[in-house]
Amino acid sequence: TLPTIYAVTPTYPRPAQKAELTRLSHLFMLLPHLHWIIVEDTNATTSLVRNLLDRAGLEKRSTLLNIKTPSEFKLKGKDPNWIKPRGVEQRNLALAWLRSHVDDDRHSIVFFMDDDNSYSTELFAEMSKIGRGRVGVWPVGLVGGLMVERPLLTEDGTKVTGFNAAWRPERPFPIDMAAFAISMDLFIRNPQATFSYEVQRGYQESEILRHLTTRDQLQPLANKCTDVLVWHTRTEKTKLAAEEALLKKGQRSDG
Ligand code: UDP
Ligand code: MN
Repeated sequence: TLPTIYAVTPTYPRPAQKAELTRLSHLFMLLPHLHWIIVEDTNATTSLVRNLLDRAGLEKRSTLLNIKTPSEFKLKGKDPNWIKPRGVEQRNLALAWLRSHVDDDRHSIVFFMDDDNSYSTELFAEMSKIGRGRVGVWPVGLVGGLMVERPLLTEDGTKVTGFNAAWRPERPFPIDMAAFAISMDLFIRNPQATFSYEVQRGYQESEILRHLTTRDQLQPLANKCTDVLVWHTRTEKTKLAAEEALLKKGQRSDG
């Protein structure tokens, strides 16, 4: 009777992709009430991702979609006001899929789950407590220049009064994408809620949330927002100089 959690993961080809997705797939093997929506930033779905889902036994509770980010939104770095928003196209495609496939009579939860963060299984037990019409929030480690970004609560721990964010604290919702999950009925009731390229850096979370909730309606989770159950880890760019030297000789280490 736990609500289904739809975890939406944009992902793109790079050397560490298989390692990142293997980690996530093994987390999913521990969490039977999750449904994984992977959206590849490619022109077609890839055998790398299909095989990975097969090997983890996740074919029946995953959905594989693809949409390539238009090249004008790939990082070029001329515009000082916003850098390339990542995963916009992919998350919006997942929302369109959810709006047309999910049965609104059954309570379910949507979580935007980037492929490189580190997630505790306990986080998903917390998400299952999110009520209909609610957005659950919790702390995120290693983000925004802090060890932990967290919501600040009333003394009884039932309402959010503010946030401890140091980076752009003036944002309507100064929290990371990994800091919240949303009851699916809110997306049905608010069809205009989507992600956008037309927002400043750091405003993607506020952009989606402003259509769905207000600060005082947020549902604090994770032991009154004292437990850290997700970390905004980032994988270092893979160094492949020796591999490139091999390729020039027509060889490869993974061939
Ligand atoms: N992503 C993508 N296409 C890209 C860049 C990123 O689909 O061109 C995905 C990436 O795999 C991740 C999410 O978008 O799931 C957020 O990207 P990233 O982790 O690089 O963002 P950051 O952590 O730096 O904010
Ligand atoms: Mn990331």
